[in-house]
Amino acid sequence: MAANSKKLFEKAKTLFPGGVNSPVRAYKSVKSNPPFISSGKGSVIKDVEGKSYIDYVLSWGPLLLGHAHPKVVQAVCKAAAKGMSFGAPTPLENELALAVQRYYPSMEKMRFVNSGTEATFSAIRVARAAAGRDKILKFSGCYHGHADYLLVSAGSGVSTLGLPDSPGVPADFTRHTLVAPYNDLAAVEKIFSEFKGQVAAVILEPVVGNMGFVPPVEGFLSGLRELCTRESAVLIFDEVMTGFRVAKGGAQSLFKIKPDMTCLGKVIGGGMPLGAYGGKREIMDLIAPQGPVYQAGTLSGNPVAVTAGLTTLQVMEKEKSFEKAAAYCTKLVHGLREIIAETGVPARANGIGTMFGMFFTAQEVHTYEDAKTSDLNRFVSYFHSMLKSGIYLAPSQFEAGFVSSAHTAADLIKTLEAARNALKR
Ligand code: PMP
Repeated sequence: MAANSKKLFEKAKTLFPGGVNSPVRAYKSVKSNPPFISSGKGSVIKDVEGKSYIDYVLSWGPLLLGHAHPKVVQAVCKAAAKGMSFGAPTPLENELALAVQRYYPSMEKMRFVNSGTEATFSAIRVARAAAGRDKILKFSGCYHGHADYLLVSAGSGVSTLGLPDSPGVPADFTRHTLVAPYNDLAAVEKIFSEFKGQVAAVILEPVVGNMGFVPPVEGFLSGLRELCTRESAVLIFDEVMTGFRVAKGGAQSLFKIKPDMTCLGKVIGGGMPLGAYGGKREIMDLIAPQGPVYQAGTLSGNPVAVTAGLTTLQVMEKEKSFEKAAAYCTKLVHGLREIIAETGVPARANGIGTMFGMFFTAQEVHTYEDAKTSDLNRFVSYFHSMLKSGIYLAPSQFEAGFVSSAHTAADLIKTLEAARNALKR
């Protein structure tokens, strides 16, 4: 019998909580079942029933070159044939670190890990050790992986002591997590004065992708930089999503702000599990075995994953993949804005580099509270209309979209046509 997504999902639900191995994949917020994917090539993925989609999820960001780029596939196969893992240093790790440093000179030293989650919680551990303080400040609507004390978004009000978002996280574990609204420098200033000398680090998505796509307002990042320097707090840019996406050198190169620490993931692994955190030499030298802060990983710096990442960065440079994807993304956002204006739907489209997003609200979106004014019913019907037309978007209003260098002029026409139909309804 032919494979069927609905049946596969029923079976998956008996095997995995909610039928998935990561929550958003389950299509709960768009009230339906996910297509099961069988393959991807370039900008297109195919489900098990043979339907093709133009993919703007791209594995949630990593696939800057699109699916199964021949050079990456070839390099990965070659690396795998030489041995999948050694748990010992390999020359490849030096090569990737040097390649990363070319784009992120602020990462004077770095360490490779296996995911964005690992990168962020490891960075915070060493930042706390460096500052000799316990509290950290994050922003509502920013996601930094699923470590206990980071699963805090915000209460209302300007300065809020974090309460856990998830059962299973003791309130004690989040009592050192402070939360401010994104883009609100005055709130940060207030928290710094309320908790004078106690804030070890400020962590943020310098351009947010996890409350939908929300850029920083003028002066926000530079203001944070100044405050962190003044208060001797470590400024951590979580560029897991924005790295090689808003610019090759991430938000830090685009906005010319030097964070003390940076977290990377997604594109750096070219579709394989790989993350990195790094920053000032004196901070990174606190990590074992050089220093006393413990952090380790059996598969960290895995040669197959490192090869996928390194080859992705090499191809990106050689084939001008970032520039191609960014040019497409600009056209896509312009096209969406034209359609929004034409149809009169209260919506806004925005993008930087190769990331974009759309909200169904008439107001400008600078904070998570603003993002939540988006009409979710309208998003759900837009999402389904697009999916039906073969356009694969993230199944949640509060996610960003991604473009690859494999997206074509024909994809753009098809996508905008589908968007026009979806918005006209
Ligand atoms: N930080 C940011 C900004 C992210 O977008 C994500 C994942 N979407 C993470 C951290 C966690 O990365 P991972 O899913 O690889 O653990």
